[in-house]
Amino acid sequence: MSGRQRITVLGATGSIGRSTLDVVARHPDRYEVHALTGHSRLSDLLTLCEQHRPKLAVVATAADAGEFAQRLRDAGLATDVLHGEEGLCEVSRASEVDAVMAAIVGAAGLPPTLAAVRAGKKVLLANKEALVMSGGLFMQAVRDSGAVLLPIDSEHNAIFQCLPGNYAQGLAQVGVRRILLTASGGPFRETPLAELATVTPEQACAHPNWSMGRKISVDSATMANKGLELIEACWLFDARPSQVEVVVHPQSVIHSLVDYVDGSVLAQLGNPDMRTPIANALAWPERIDSGVAPLDLFAVARLDFQAPDEQRFPCLRLARQAAEAGGSAPATLNAANEVAVAAFLERRIRYTEIASMIEAVLGESPAGPLENLDAVFAADTSARHLAGQWLTRWGR
Ligand code: NAD
Ligand code: MG
Repeated sequence: MSGRQRITVLGATGSIGRSTLDVVARHPDRYEVHALTGHSRLSDLLTLCEQHRPKLAVVATAADAGEFAQRLRDAGLATDVLHGEEGLCEVSRASEVDAVMAAIVGAAGLPPTLAAVRAGKKVLLANKEALVMSGGLFMQAVRDSGAVLLPIDSEHNAIFQCLPGNYAQGLAQVGVRRILLTASGGPFRETPLAELATVTPEQACAHPNWSMGRKISVDSATMANKGLELIEACWLFDARPSQVEVVVHPQSVIHSLVDYVDGSVLAQLGNPDMRTPIANALAWPERIDSGVAPLDLFAVARLDFQAPDEQRFPCLRLARQAAEAGGSAPATLNAANEVAVAAFLERRIRYTEIASMIEAVLGESPAGPLENLDAVFAADTSARHLAGQWLTRWGR
């Protein structure tokens, strides 16, 4: 390897961002940080800037940028400050950047992630919402620019590790029968159905195996996350929705599996710690230490598997429907889910109404073709508008 890789971390203050910087800090000989971005929690961003001394930091607004620049100067740092979507895109496509960790949560991550793709960077994709929204356009941009797209989502990183290097020829060509996408089942896997209407955001965010941001924690509880991941897998590995089967595996030790025509099933195992897929993608095709403890199979002792219960997890059924419908339907599903999760976290709707809202918005949004990015953002905006109307209609 020649020289150190320069990295931009989009969403540095989040769960994935911080795990990324933990791995990066273990290998100062290999990586240096070009830019860090954060939307809120500017004190956390300042601490990260002190630790990693990036050339640039990106914050949300011009007012934040002015204040943050002063705090950086007071701390004796030479980091320059940009702001807003243009600032995010600039640090993603900058010529001196080798790799971009796309770890902003939600649709807000699409423009900078796409900017990194179009600039032909090595793109470490955690921000699944970006790919779900823009699917075919995103993958076409990867092919056009020659960007190297590496999945960070633990399941997709596991699948990537279990596939042969030439999988882009087509799953059938390389002998793959099915992708088995594992799911923990989240905190409400065994909660009596009648109690789901009254569960709180705190309960929903208390994931049994993974420590994550609040939005993805709620998505894991509803399994909207697994639905988004089903769509993500279809785009990343050029699979049909029917080729991706969801398997509930409560221990979260197997991160996903690939089933081959000869009957071989390959799995990737490890402790549930995102630093493993992050280190895998950062160093790919090499391997580096991630700080994750070795897997103790004797402590794990057993691995359980169940079929997902669609009555308990209606969001999974809705996502499969959107995947089958294609076109704008996944963007609609994603936007409705983002609005619903935010409303649930603000205690404006019940947990069970997340699925009701998504179903209503999908029902009112005929799936159209996504010919360009404007169509993606139009579907996103329309779904957010319909979701807002749902909230008004029900007095929330
Ligand atoms: P998080 O909430 O902990 O962090 C989100 C980051 O995005 C923060 O840095 C925040 O400042 C930034 N952000 C939020 N809104 C923004 C906006 N409008 N503009 C710019 N920046 C904004 O989330 P997370 O758990 O780190 O998840 C990040 C992404 O990674 C999500 O797409 C999630 O689905 C995916 N992911 C996370 C995990 C995990 O274990 N946490 C696993 C797989 C995939
Ligand atoms: Mg995942």
